[in-house]
Order: sequence, then structure tokens, then C-alpha cells
Amino acid sequence: MLIRKNIPLTVTFASLGLAEPIARALRDEKYETPTPIQAQAVPPALSGRDVVGIAQTGTGKTAAFALPILHRLAATEGRPWPKAPRVVVLCPTRELGSQIVDSFHAYGRYLRLKTMLAIGGVPIGKQKRNLAAGADILVATPGRLLDLANERAVSFDHVEVLVLDEADRMLDMGFIRDIRKIVAMIPDERQTLFFSATMPGEITKLAKDMLRNPVTVAVTPAATTVELIAQRAMRAERNQKPAMLAGLLREEGVLRALVFTRTKHGADKVVRALSQDGIEAEAIHGNKTQGARERTMAAFRNGDIRVLIATDIAARGIDVDGVSHVVNYDLPNVAETYVHRIGRTARAGASGIAVSLVSGEEMPLLRDIEKLIRQKVPLSGEASAAEPAERAGRDRNRGPRRDDQQPRQQQGRGRGKQRQRDDRPQQNQNGRNGGKPHGQHGAKPQGQRHNGPSRPHGGDNIGEVGFMSQRPRRGGMVQGSAH
Ligand code: AMP
Repeated sequence: MLIRKNIPLTVTFASLGLAEPIARALRDEKYETPTPIQAQAVPPALSGRDVVGIAQTGTGKTAAFALPILHRLAATEGRPWPKAPRVVVLCPTRELGSQIVDSFHAYGRYLRLKTMLAIGGVPIGKQKRNLAAGADILVATPGRLLDLANERAVSFDHVEVLVLDEADRMLDMGFIRDIRKIVAMIPDERQTLFFSATMPGEITKLAKDMLRNPVTVAVTPAATTVELIAQRAMRAERNQKPAMLAGLLREEGVLRALVFTRTKHGADKVVRALSQDGIEAEAIHGNKTQGARERTMAAFRNGDIRVLIATDIAARGIDVDGVSHVVNYDLPNVAETYVHRIGRTARAGASGIAVSLVSGEEMPLLRDIEKLIRQKVPLSGEASAAEPAERAGRDRNRGPRRDDQQPRQQQGRGRGKQRQRDDRPQQNQNGRNGGKPHGQHGAKPQGQRHNGPSRPHGGDNIGEVGFMSQRPRRGGMVQGSAH
């Protein structure tokens, strides 16, 4: 398999030859140059080739598949068939699905196409009705799509393009069998676009089984991301963390902060502690209802909430621009998860600040992280006077400052195959998306901020269904909301 890696950026959007309404939408989005994954993946996808894209969220991978799909559909716009989408996009979570729909809305705002979201955790009835009314593009989580197929609410007979987004994560979440069942129902005569942050054996095999003579393209964003982020760590024992977090969040320049805790319970506790300190924050995690998650995300996006507390699984795939700070209230057990977390503040080349609160117990985890990113994370307050003497003694015995400690990366690192249906979100510590960065020292905030796709609906679009255009199309059919 040919892998094109980090090809220099000579491609421009104009040179891609996208249909005029799409090019116009990209101008609205203020996208000037394709990101590396777009520069590599869009041309073969436009020519009809199958593509394997090795890229994680934050690299512009959504547009890498959305643009060629929209170009194809633009050539043959028409009323969609009842129950029979022309494009199926499979993704692991409702949040990612919602963002994909947002991207199709944004880039396709001048096209008369209908995009629909079908996710678990919400009643199926409305999704069935909307499918019956017809959708060109169906973005779905595998469990719910299979349910819809079993209830004959969807037909795959007219599918021309199949996309798998974050395939490795779908594997982690136990969706592989559902995916294989769905793929078996989709006509062989199709284009398949396959995106994954990593390519473990099972994913490579899935790709091999599903794709025909694919072009494989890869980017290594994690290194770039890490280099763009100013990282620091502060020693803080468990009981000191609430006050330290409040202090941090009061610092100047904290415009929008994403705070990570290891558990759902921990996230709620932090919200309560901050509220006692007069800081308004909200938590997003799997125990929250769909509606509550939607409202919280929308409020975070439009700036009503400045501080969002999240668990790893809830935050995965969330694409919010303008996160100035990521705070690790707890360090993750798996070092790769750290890279993924801090990447939230460096969307598409932007810079950001990441601060970690590290207790004595967590020091070995910090060492693991430093080994992975090949950087020292500057640590302050190590000999904190407030540190309980007993703990300090324990840490001394354990030698927290030694750099020769064996990495504990294996801890909690098993490739969890537990069934984790989209309608039953659970905590999952398998940080998988972080790549293997080979970062440099002295990371400084720098770089140009890219604008994320504007949200034509003026807010978060996590919902049962989303529609793309409101302009009447041929035959007088009125579509859903537009920009
Ligand atoms: P993704 O990896 O698809 O989640 O995209 C990450 C972010 O990059 C999103 O906020 C996109 O709006 C933004 N983005 C994607 N492509 C471009 C581009 N060519 N120029 C600027 N920003 C982009």
C-alpha cells in the first residue's frame, strides 16, 4: 500500500476544482489553503478512488471527505429517495456525528441537499420519519443504523459513498461487528473513504476487506499539535486542586477552558467546588441526558459557559474553536490521552495553553507523558509547603523526581473491546487517538488560527436529525434549516 506522508502544501482550494457553490462556501468559512490531509485526500477522492486517511480530529479530516462527497452530489442534485441515502457516514459518537452534520451544512450551504443525523440514545421514531421523507446524506452511529436497517427504515440500495470516520475508535467501542454487518448490506459498487487516527491490525484488516485499491494518505498531527501548545504542570495534592483550579481559571487570558477529570463523579464535584468559589462551570459526561449535553455544548460554543468540565469519552470528537486553555484536573492513566486532551486547544493549527494539576501519586503518569511527547513539562510548586507531610514522605520513598522510572503506559491500556453502544455512553480511558509525536523542546504558542466551520444553525446541532438547506428545491420541496 502506498502511503503518502506529509506532502508539502502546494495544493490550493482553487486547484482542487470543486464545484462553485462549494468553493463559495469555503470562502465564507475563510478557509484559504487545504490542510495536509485535505491536500492529499481530496484529489483521489474526487477522482472516485477509495481513500484510507490516517488522521485524527483537528486535522481537517471532516472536510477531507465532506468536500469530495458534496462535489459528487452537487453534480446530480435532485429530490432524495425515501429511505435511501446516497451517502452513509459512520462515526462513533453523537458529538462527532453532530459535528459532521454541521460540516456538511457549512460546506454545502449553497447546495440543495439534505443531511440527516441518526444516533442512539434518542427515540427512533423521528429518525424513521425523516428517513422516509428522504435524505441525501445519512450520518449515523453504527448501533442505531443497524437498528434502523433491521426495522427496514433505511435501504442501502442507492448508497454511492460510504465513509468510516474514526474507525479505530469505533473498534474500541465495540462497533466492529455492527460495521461489518452494515458494510455487507451496502452495494459493492461504491466509493469508500476510511478515516482512522491509528491503524491497529484489526483496523487494517477491516480496511483491506472494505476498500478497493485505496490510496492511503497520512498526517502526523500530534507532533505539530504538541509543539503549538505551551504546557506546564503544577504540583497539587487532591485537596488543593479545587482552589488551584479556581485560581487558574481567574487568570487573565482564560477565554474558554476545557477541564478534564478522570471520572464523571469527579466532573460533577469540580463543578460544585467551582460554584462555591463563584465560578460558573458545567459538566459534560455520559450520565447527562442527551438534551443536557446538547445545551451545555451549545452554551460552551457560543460563549455562555466559559468553563466546561469533561471526561475523556465525552470530550472525544468535540470540535470547539477558541479553547484557550486545557486543564488536566486529573492526569489520564494513558499517556496518549494527554496528547489528545491538550490537542483540544490547538484546533487546526491554533496555539493554546495546557496546564496539568499533578498530585504526588500522579507523578509517574507525568513522567510517562514526558516520555511519550519527548518533552519536559515544566513543573512548578514541587516542594509545596501545603503538601501533607505524610504524602511527601511517601513520594520521597517512591522517588517521584527520578527520570529513570519504568513507564507505566501499560496501565489501563488494554484495547478495551467492551460493548459501548452509542446509546449507552460509558467512561473509557483508552486514550487511543494520540499519535506518537516527536515534539521539539520549548513549545511556544504560535501559529495561525483557522476558523472552524461556522455553524449554520447558530449553535450545537446535537439532535435527532439535522437538515441542510432550507431553500426550496426542484419540485417545491422545502428543506430543513440553513444558515
Ligand atoms: P476536523 O479535523 O475535521 O475536526 O477539523 C478541525 C478544525 O479545522 C475545524 O474547526 C475546521 O473548521 C477547521 N478546518 C478544516 N479545514 C480547514 C482549512 N482548510 N482551513 C482552515 N480551517 C480548517
